[in-house]
Amino acid sequence: MKMISKEYAKQLKKEIAKADELPNFIDEENIFNILEKAKKADKQEVKDILDKARDIDNKGLSQYETAVLLQNKDKALDEEIFALAKEVKQRIYGNRMVLFAPLYISNVCKNVCAYCAFAKTNKELVRKTLTDEEIKAEVSVIEGMGHKRVLVVYGEYDYSPEWLAHTIDEVYATKTNPSGEVRRVNINCAPLNVEGFRTLKNANIGTYQCFQETYHTETYNKMHISGNKTNYKWRLYALHRAQEAGLDDVATGALFGLFDYKFEVLGLLAHAEELEDKFGVGPHTISFPRIEPALGSEMSYQPPYQMSDYEFKKIIAILRLAVPYTGLILSTRENTEFRRELLELGISQISAASRTYPGGYVDMKANVPQEQQFSIGDERPLDEVICDLATTLDYIPSFCTGCYRLGRTGDHFMGLAKSNFIKKCCTPNAMCTFSEYLNDYASEKTKKVGMELIRKEFEKMDEGDMKVKVKEALSRISNKGERDIYF
Ligand code: SAM
Ligand code: SF4
Repeated sequence: MKMISKEYAKQLKKEIAKADELPNFIDEENIFNILEKAKKADKQEVKDILDKARDIDNKGLSQYETAVLLQNKDKALDEEIFALAKEVKQRIYGNRMVLFAPLYISNVCKNVCAYCAFAKTNKELVRKTLTDEEIKAEVSVIEGMGHKRVLVVYGEYDYSPEWLAHTIDEVYATKTNPSGEVRRVNINCAPLNVEGFRTLKNANIGTYQCFQETYHTETYNKMHISGNKTNYKWRLYALHRAQEAGLDDVATGALFGLFDYKFEVLGLLAHAEELEDKFGVGPHTISFPRIEPALGSEMSYQPPYQMSDYEFKKIIAILRLAVPYTGLILSTRENTEFRRELLELGISQISAASRTYPGGYVDMKANVPQEQQFSIGDERPLDEVICDLATTLDYIPSFCTGCYRLGRTGDHFMGLAKSNFIKKCCTPNAMCTFSEYLNDYASEKTKKVGMELIRKEFEKMDEGDMKVKVKEALSRISNKGERDIYF
């Protein structure tokens, strides 16, 4: 059944209205006070906070400490923040970079968000919901590039959770030669109720992702003009409901440009602290899209709180220090040159070769204003992105899905992450999935560069069991054609 039943719609309406009774754990007054107090911090205090952040056995930074770094105006100290973020990122994540492709399944939406091209009132947008056949065709193209991880995206419409789950089944079921398969489907869809999230859990999704957009209620109310999304708390508690349904990898984010970026960063931290408090685990990842020009949205061309590149760099570096074990995601909204710079500061996952409209991979045009959600800054094909990562940054592109498939999710993952596991296990998994890519999908140029990088990375490994296992796995991949080996 594609659409929700009348009973379900009624139930949902009731639950959304009831969300208003929940407490707002984003204490706005407190955030403003922290930001004011942090302005008074001197240089020494900034340095002390950096010393604390350097010790990655600490759990990151408090809201106040984060605010001090955000308020710092001394450029030399900012440089120290950038340098430390790079160091922390390298120590925790090593030189691997996880890659994924977004897959827009629908651009039909019942809401009106002031910044989005999918808003119901946008009459210029060509609306489309992919059929099963179209989903398979899109996935085939994505797999043909070499991707193994997909983020499915939908507008907010009356789609039933069962239909959402069905579309996920279609993605998993699509296999192509030589080794094309999607091994992890993450999802960005409108907040559901607990029952709906359970249906998604049963469809084997990886992460449920929902951005709060802005944590500032007044701005939230201004930007969300009609539809279910107008209810701030229904959205604020979406990740709680997902957790209650057993989805322990949840992801949040803020859309930068709607309100003061410093406030939003503290909002993200407050959200993370609340989840940690209630469920023992914070968000698996945080995203921080900047508003991009979107058809039909005047404000998207001139956002009220446009953030400069420098400020954007700063929030990435500061988030890396504040939540060292939380993945940070960067999308193709940012352009190529700038993306390179940001990766080093703390990004652990990027989308690549993205299309932001339903049918965009079969169609293959990067920018189609009449159908897409926002314009793409980095239009390069996956092979080019990978070659660039491997040559200019010495990064090992990773398509790894090992943790989620071995049940290392939620607090289990966080516990492991904090024990230097990411480097010990994720790097071997990155090497194996990269080797698969090089054998099956890479251009000759990328293959040459990539094989050399894997060799260098292998040599860097400590002698021991894992090194022996990786040697054997790499040989099985290249010489025996085995695939999907993970630790
Ligand atoms: N409809 C669902 C929702 O709103 O949560 C999921 C899909 S929505 C297309 C995914 C995200 O796109 C939103 O959460 C928002 O942050 C982002 N977005 C919307 N308009 C944008 C724009 N003009 N530039 C950049 N990101 C945008
Ligand atoms: Fe619809 Fe989501 Fe776009 Fe809002 S952001 S208009 S809910 S697709």
